[in-house]
Amino acid sequence: MRLLLVEDDAMLGRAVLTGLKMDGYAVDWMSTGQSALHCLETDEYDLVVLDLGLPDIDGKAVLSTLRKRGMTTPVIILTARDSIEDRVGGLDAGADDYMVKPFDQDELMARVRALLRRRSGRASAVLQYKDITLHPDSMKAEYQGQPVEISRREFALLQELLVNTGRVLTREQLERAIYDWDQDVASNAVEVHIHHLRKKFYNDLIRTVRGVGYLVEKAG
Ligand code: CA
Repeated sequence: MRLLLVEDDAMLGRAVLTGLKMDGYAVDWMSTGQSALHCLETDEYDLVVLDLGLPDIDGKAVLSTLRKRGMTTPVIILTARDSIEDRVGGLDAGADDYMVKPFDQDELMARVRALLRRRSGRASAVLQYKDITLHPDSMKAEYQGQPVEISRREFALLQELLVNTGRVLTREQLERAIYDWDQDVASNAVEVHIHHLRKKFYNDLIRTVRGVGYLVEKAG
Protein backbone atom coordinates (compact mmCIF):
# COMPACT_ATOMS: atom_id res chain seq x y z
CA MET A 1 0.00 0.00 0.00
CA ARG A 2 1.31 3.40 -0.95
CA LEU A 3 0.21 6.52 0.94
CA LEU A 4 0.71 10.22 0.38
CA LEU A 5 1.17 12.39 3.45
CA VAL A 6 0.75 16.15 3.02
CA GLU A 7 1.74 18.09 6.13
CA ASP A 8 3.90 21.22 6.44
CA ASP A 9 4.52 20.92 10.18
CA ALA A 10 7.90 19.16 10.34
CA MET A 11 7.44 17.59 13.76
CA LEU A 12 3.92 16.35 13.19
CA GLY A 13 4.80 15.21 9.67
CA ARG A 14 7.74 13.22 10.96
CA ALA A 15 5.62 11.59 13.66
CA VAL A 16 2.82 10.58 11.27
CA LEU A 17 5.37 9.38 8.69
CA THR A 18 7.07 7.19 11.29
CA GLY A 19 3.74 5.76 12.47
CA LEU A 20 2.60 4.94 8.95
CA LYS A 21 5.91 3.31 8.06
CA MET A 22 5.77 1.24 11.24
CA ASP A 23 2.42 -0.02 10.02
CA GLY A 24 4.13 -1.20 6.85
CA TYR A 25 2.99 1.40 4.32
CA ALA A 26 5.20 2.98 1.69
CA VAL A 27 4.80 6.72 2.28
CA ASP A 28 5.71 9.84 0.29
CA TRP A 29 5.72 12.98 2.40
CA MET A 30 5.05 16.40 0.86
CA SER A 31 4.79 19.73 2.67
CA THR A 32 3.06 21.93 0.07
CA GLY A 33 -0.19 21.73 -1.85
CA GLN A 34 1.57 22.12 -5.21
CA SER A 35 3.94 19.24 -4.62
CA ALA A 36 1.03 17.11 -3.42
CA LEU A 37 -0.94 17.80 -6.59
CA HIS A 38 2.13 16.97 -8.64
CA CYS A 39 2.50 13.63 -6.84
CA LEU A 40 -1.17 12.83 -7.34
CA GLU A 41 -0.83 13.59 -11.03
CA THR A 42 2.17 11.37 -11.59
CA ASP A 43 1.65 8.56 -9.09
CA GLU A 44 -1.04 6.28 -7.81
CA TYR A 45 -1.85 6.22 -4.11
CA ASP A 46 -4.10 4.04 -2.00
CA LEU A 47 -4.84 6.83 0.49
CA VAL A 48 -3.98 10.47 1.23
CA VAL A 49 -3.50 12.07 4.65
CA LEU A 50 -3.99 15.76 3.98
CA ASP A 51 -3.39 18.77 6.23
CA LEU A 52 -5.79 21.64 5.50
CA GLY A 53 -3.49 24.51 6.50
CA LEU A 54 -0.70 24.40 3.91
CA PRO A 55 1.72 27.24 3.07
CA ASP A 56 0.76 27.61 -0.60
CA ILE A 57 -2.64 26.32 -1.68
CA ASP A 58 -5.18 25.36 0.95
CA GLY A 59 -5.63 21.65 1.58
CA LYS A 60 -9.30 22.01 0.73
CA ALA A 61 -8.34 23.31 -2.73
CA VAL A 62 -6.00 20.33 -3.18
CA LEU A 63 -8.89 18.05 -2.29
CA SER A 64 -11.38 19.71 -4.67
CA THR A 65 -8.83 19.56 -7.52
CA LEU A 66 -8.25 15.90 -6.84
CA ARG A 67 -11.97 15.12 -6.88
CA LYS A 68 -12.52 17.26 -10.02
CA ARG A 69 -9.93 15.09 -11.72
CA GLY A 70 -12.17 12.16 -10.89
CA MET A 71 -9.81 10.57 -8.39
CA THR A 72 -11.61 8.48 -5.79
CA THR A 73 -8.56 7.90 -3.55
CA PRO A 74 -9.66 7.99 0.11
CA VAL A 75 -8.59 11.18 1.88
CA ILE A 76 -8.30 11.85 5.60
CA ILE A 77 -7.97 15.54 6.37
CA LEU A 78 -6.00 16.88 9.32
CA THR A 79 -7.21 20.16 10.67
CA ALA A 80 -6.24 22.42 13.52
CA ARG A 81 -9.38 24.44 12.98
CA ASP A 82 -11.84 22.93 15.32
CA SER A 83 -14.83 24.62 13.81
CA ILE A 84 -17.84 22.82 12.45
CA GLU A 85 -17.71 24.78 9.19
CA ASP A 86 -14.20 23.58 8.46
CA ARG A 87 -15.05 19.98 9.06
CA VAL A 88 -18.25 20.16 7.08
CA GLY A 89 -16.40 22.04 4.32
CA GLY A 90 -13.72 19.37 4.21
CA LEU A 91 -16.22 16.56 4.02
CA ASP A 92 -18.21 18.42 1.37
CA ALA A 93 -15.03 18.91 -0.65
CA GLY A 94 -14.71 15.14 -0.81
CA ALA A 95 -12.84 14.02 2.30
CA ASP A 96 -13.68 10.58 3.64
CA ASP A 97 -12.70 11.27 7.22
CA TYR A 98 -11.02 13.92 9.32
CA MET A 99 -8.90 14.28 12.45
CA VAL A 100 -8.75 17.42 14.57
CA LYS A 101 -5.27 18.34 15.85
CA PRO A 102 -3.96 17.44 18.30
CA PHE A 103 -5.01 13.88 17.63
CA ASP A 104 -4.08 10.48 18.89
CA GLN A 105 -1.66 8.74 16.56
CA ASP A 106 -3.21 5.31 17.20
CA GLU A 107 -6.62 6.64 16.25
CA LEU A 108 -5.27 8.02 12.97
CA MET A 109 -3.70 4.64 12.17
CA ALA A 110 -6.97 2.86 12.94
CA ARG A 111 -8.88 5.22 10.65
CA VAL A 112 -6.32 4.71 7.88
CA ARG A 113 -6.80 0.94 8.16
CA ALA A 114 -10.59 1.31 8.20
CA LEU A 115 -10.61 3.43 5.04
CA LEU A 116 -8.25 1.10 3.20
CA ARG A 117 -10.43 -1.80 4.24
CA ARG A 118 -13.58 -0.10 3.01
CA ARG A 119 -11.85 0.70 -0.27
CA SER A 120 -10.99 -2.93 -0.85
CA GLY A 121 -14.58 -3.90 0.00
CA ARG A 122 -13.71 -5.87 3.12
CA ALA A 123 -15.72 -5.53 6.27
CA SER A 124 -13.34 -7.51 8.45
CA ALA A 125 -10.05 -6.17 9.83
CA VAL A 126 -8.43 -9.49 9.03
CA LEU A 127 -7.35 -10.56 5.55
CA GLN A 128 -8.05 -14.22 4.92
CA TYR A 129 -6.81 -16.20 1.93
CA LYS A 130 -7.25 -19.95 2.07
CA ASP A 131 -5.12 -21.10 5.05
CA ILE A 132 -3.37 -17.74 5.37
CA THR A 133 -4.50 -15.02 7.77
CA LEU A 134 -3.03 -11.51 7.81
CA HIS A 135 -3.67 -9.04 10.63
CA PRO A 136 -2.89 -5.57 9.23
CA ASP A 137 -3.30 -3.89 12.63
CA SER A 138 -0.51 -5.94 14.21
CA MET A 139 1.30 -7.04 11.02
CA LYS A 140 1.11 -10.64 12.15
CA ALA A 141 0.61 -13.57 9.82
CA GLU A 142 -0.65 -17.10 10.34
CA TYR A 143 -0.56 -20.17 8.16
CA GLN A 144 -2.82 -23.09 9.03
CA GLY A 145 -3.40 -21.51 12.42
CA GLN A 146 0.30 -21.23 13.25
CA PRO A 147 2.11 -17.87 13.55
CA VAL A 148 4.62 -17.16 10.76
CA GLU A 149 7.68 -14.95 11.27
CA ILE A 150 7.39 -12.28 8.64
CA SER A 151 9.20 -8.98 8.04
CA ARG A 152 7.36 -5.70 7.43
CA ARG A 153 8.25 -5.69 3.76
CA GLU A 154 7.25 -9.31 3.30
CA PHE A 155 3.97 -8.54 5.01
CA ALA A 156 3.34 -5.49 2.82
CA LEU A 157 4.21 -7.44 -0.31
CA LEU A 158 1.95 -10.37 0.55
CA GLN A 159 -0.87 -8.02 1.51
CA GLU A 160 -0.58 -6.27 -1.85
CA LEU A 161 -0.79 -9.60 -3.67
CA LEU A 162 -3.69 -10.86 -1.56
CA VAL A 163 -5.88 -7.79 -2.01
CA ASN A 164 -5.26 -8.11 -5.75
CA THR A 165 -5.82 -11.83 -6.24
CA GLY A 166 -6.36 -12.83 -9.84
CA ARG A 167 -4.38 -9.83 -11.09
CA VAL A 168 -0.78 -9.96 -12.28
CA LEU A 169 1.28 -7.32 -10.49
CA THR A 170 4.50 -6.16 -12.13
CA ARG A 171 7.74 -6.02 -10.19
CA GLU A 172 7.54 -2.25 -10.43
CA GLN A 173 4.04 -2.17 -8.89
CA LEU A 174 5.23 -4.37 -6.05
CA GLU A 175 8.32 -2.23 -5.48
CA ARG A 176 6.13 0.85 -5.31
CA ALA A 177 3.93 -0.80 -2.72
CA ILE A 178 6.80 -1.47 -0.35
CA TYR A 179 9.44 1.20 -0.94
CA ASP A 180 9.49 5.00 -0.68
CA TRP A 181 11.25 7.28 -3.11
CA ASP A 182 14.15 7.93 -0.81
CA GLN A 183 15.10 4.30 -0.52
CA ASP A 184 17.42 2.58 -2.93
CA VAL A 185 15.91 -0.66 -4.07
CA ALA A 186 18.16 -3.54 -4.97
CA SER A 187 17.10 -4.73 -8.41
CA ASN A 188 16.26 -8.19 -7.11
CA ALA A 189 14.61 -7.11 -3.82
CA VAL A 190 11.10 -8.18 -4.82
CA GLU A 191 12.38 -11.56 -6.05
CA VAL A 192 14.16 -12.13 -2.76
CA HIS A 193 11.06 -11.29 -0.69
CA ILE A 194 8.89 -13.52 -2.90
CA HIS A 195 11.37 -16.35 -2.49
CA HIS A 196 11.12 -16.00 1.31
CA LEU A 197 7.33 -15.81 1.22
CA ARG A 198 7.12 -19.02 -0.81
CA LYS A 199 9.33 -20.77 1.72
CA LYS A 200 7.39 -19.43 4.71
CA PHE A 201 4.00 -20.34 3.26
CA TYR A 202 3.98 -22.64 0.27
CA ASN A 203 5.66 -22.62 -3.09
CA ASP A 204 2.61 -22.31 -5.35
CA LEU A 205 1.17 -19.39 -3.38
CA ILE A 206 2.81 -16.83 -5.64
CA ARG A 207 3.04 -17.63 -9.34
CA THR A 208 5.66 -16.05 -11.55
CA VAL A 209 4.19 -14.90 -14.84
CA ARG A 210 7.26 -14.79 -17.06
CA GLY A 211 8.13 -11.38 -18.42
CA VAL A 212 5.14 -9.80 -16.67
CA GLY A 213 5.16 -10.18 -12.89
CA TYR A 214 3.58 -12.09 -10.08
CA LEU A 215 0.14 -13.47 -9.35
CA VAL A 216 -1.81 -15.02 -6.51
CA GLU A 217 -4.75 -16.96 -7.92
CA LYS A 218 -8.23 -16.08 -6.74
CA ALA A 219 -9.31 -18.37 -3.93
CA GLY A 220 -11.57 -21.00 -5.48
CA1 CA B 1 -0.31 23.04 8.54
